[in-house]
Amino acid sequence: MSAVGILLCAGTSARMGFDKLNTPLYGKTAIERSMDALVAGGCDSLVFVVGGASERTVKSLSVPVPFSVVPGGEQRTDSVRNGLSAASGDVAVIHDAARCFVSPATVMASIESATAFGSGVTAIPVTDTVMQVRNGTVETLDRDTLFRMQTPQSFRLTEIRAAYGTGAYATDDATLYARTFGSVRFVPGSEDNRKLTAASDWAWALSRLCPPTYGIGFDTHRLVEGRKLILGGVEIPFEKGLLGHSDADVLLHAIMDAILGSLKLGDIGKLFPDTDPQYAGISSRVLLRKVNELVQKRDMVVGHVDATVICERPKLAPYRDAIARTIAEDLGISPDAVSVKATTTEGMNDEGKGLCISAQAIVSVCRR
Ligand code: MG
Repeated sequence: MSAVGILLCAGTSARMGFDKLNTPLYGKTAIERSMDALVAGGCDSLVFVVGGASERTVKSLSVPVPFSVVPGGEQRTDSVRNGLSAASGDVAVIHDAARCFVSPATVMASIESATAFGSGVTAIPVTDTVMQVRNGTVETLDRDTLFRMQTPQSFRLTEIRAAYGTGAYATDDATLYARTFGSVRFVPGSEDNRKLTAASDWAWALSRLCPPTYGIGFDTHRLVEGRKLILGGVEIPFEKGLLGHSDADVLLHAIMDAILGSLKLGDIGKLFPDTDPQYAGISSRVLLRKVNELVQKRDMVVGHVDATVICERPKLAPYRDAIARTIAEDLGISPDAVSVKATTTEGMNDEGKGLCISAQAIVSVCRR
């Protein structure tokens, strides 16, 4: 039995006012969060249905299963139809990327139901009283008979293809399936599986991941001849380099101290003593990855990094993007969540005289 996830990432975010699918929510976009849940819940391949900036986001992901990318259509129904045409497997797991807090357990239950009964549609009971208003008259509906549809909605692939083959349109997949096959089987959803639609949903998502903890870091290394200059993991051509026990990457050192500070884990001097020969000449990227493992072990993720390098020469602007990408790669987060700035001290102080380079960083760390 194989399950193919069809991840709908083609929405226009019209009601949000900004690009909700491609803006990192503490280090990870909604697309990445949804992808992770689908894979953890049992999808062994994926079809990304993309539009706008989501194509770029998907290209930047490291996708742990075989996948394809297809364009979205005019309406949701068109997008799903495109996704289904590229899918192969026994069960299709159709999911809106904007429901990025779906749990792997929900995905698993949806797949199991579709495997056993043909369909597994995530839904939750209505708890509010619902009134229908028509031509000036109102009727209170029996809420015990009402359900709110969520995703994932899973079906046998051949059957949901047949349902979509009728050419009909609907706002979800269960509606089309039920028209063709008579009924659907529900699996329990949750309030956490909320679709990010309006600005208030975004605020809710941030508060769900919050409160982040914060940490700051600062470091200085002396500039000397005969050393390579490594900043943020990137080698920068210059006549001098930074002196230190490791590669003396002052920027990564400040960032590591900020991360360690956010979790009250001490500092890099304590973790990687400069008296320990195993750290002699080591790339600070290796150390950053070790620090990030401590974050991951706590089921947390670095949310944002904002750093400033204080340096008279060389000019760092041409390297800023490469540095941000390198740091993001080592932390396993989006480059959009990493900000690297540079400033001079206008010839004053030891940085300004070219004796040293310093760096400051602040990071947030939050629930994964
Ligand atoms: Mg240092």
